[in-house]
Amino acid sequence: MLYIICNSPKNIIFVIYEYLTEVNLIMAKAKGKIVINTEMCKGCEVCVVACPQKCISIGDKLNLKGYAYAIQDATNCVGCAACGIVCPDGAITVYQSKE
Ligand code: SF4
Ligand code: SF4
Repeated sequence: MLYIICNSPKNIIFVIYEYLTEVNLIMAKAKGKIVINTEMCKGCEVCVVACPQKCISIGDKLNLKGYAYAIQDATNCVGCAACGIVCPDGAITVYQSKE
């Protein structure tokens, strides 16, 4: 937790920097996992673009509706939930644990 009285623009910039550093440290220690409901996925790639860790891609296999669906192909997920939030079909469930 950070308490600083912002009495100058320099202090405000410092507070923002410290806040972002703290958030980055928290996210760096977080471990995430996603579960994609492949039958709900239509392969729109919105989650692929949204993932800051670049750990989702569209695979080769098709679901029963004929869509190539999203897969998590890396283990560096931090559980930020960006993919789950942007998925228009609610096909992604995100789990996060702190190390
Ligand atoms: S939870 Fe975040 S890091 Fe993990 S796959 Fe989704 S967007 Fe990527
Ligand atoms: S955003 Fe949802 S529907 Fe689109 S590819 Fe990702 S999981 Fe599939």
